[in-house]
Amino acid sequence: MDFEAISAFCFMPLLMVIAAQGWAWMACVFICFPIFFALYQYKLPSKMRTRFFVSWSIVSFFFLLAVFELEVVPYLEILFIENFILMVFVAVMCLCIYFAKHRVQESYILAHSTEKASNKADQSTRTRCELCSVMQPPRTYHCDICGYCVYQQDHHNVWLDICIGAPNKKYFLGAIIMLLCACFFSSNLTLTTICHPTLMGNLLLMPDDCSDVFGDIHIAICFVSAIYTLIIATLAIYLLCQQIWLITHNTTYHEWKQGLLGLHSNGILGNWVDFCRGFPKRN
Ligand SMILES: [Zn+2]
Ligand SMILES: [Zn+2]
Repeated sequence: MDFEAISAFCFMPLLMVIAAQGWAWMACVFICFPIFFALYQYKLPSKMRTRFFVSWSIVSFFFLLAVFELEVVPYLEILFIENFILMVFVAVMCLCIYFAKHRVQESYILAHSTEKASNKADQSTRTRCELCSVMQPPRTYHCDICGYCVYQQDHHNVWLDICIGAPNKKYFLGAIIMLLCACFFSSNLTLTTICHPTLMGNLLLMPDDCSDVFGDIHIAICFVSAIYTLIIATLAIYLLCQQIWLITHNTTYHEWKQGLLGLHSNGILGNWVDFCRGFPKRN
């Protein structure tokens, strides 16, 4: 394990304990999070692969899961079925991430796959990548971090440390949706357990008064974990809306940054069919 991974494994739980000391501490920690990540990314050479962000994702996942199962569930206010539904969201999210990682290789343009798939008409639209010496099909971009040409590269996701391209994009979207469900459900269960709850519209239990959560360190840890989960959910909503908008226009994030929005659009329905179809397996 390298230094970056170790620092993520130490910093994340430490910051959560600091945040649990009071309202001001919690505000400081959660305001510092994005500044710290932005500075870290800014300081990093653009082509350098880092394990810091993916390590942060892994330790956050296990920390939040452990707090829920070992701190919130023992209060005996969460039903078995509620815990089961949450675990289904988590399991489906993990499966989506597994498939996204597993299928990323299908979007790499390799020398032998280019020769196999090529024909005369196709060859004329190809350009040579100077970095990995393969003939690039249209809409292919070289990822400096992975070191491969990636078909329909959307972006390199530092939190999962994989490239998001045509074959694994639907799994990535599935993972975001499941992450959102898990975040909202778990934060609601946690906050209604440790805060004074109120019934909204005779249907939904919502937290009402959370003013006394910092009196006990165990409850404070549960509270800051729920707030951290809600921050993750907010970022996931932004990412989900962005992806839905880009898929509707059949445009990758990479193309959008180059001002090519809607250049390959086949109509809204056609774009979503293309997205669901992904990219045919070449090898
Ligand atoms: Zn390349
Ligand atoms: Zn990449």
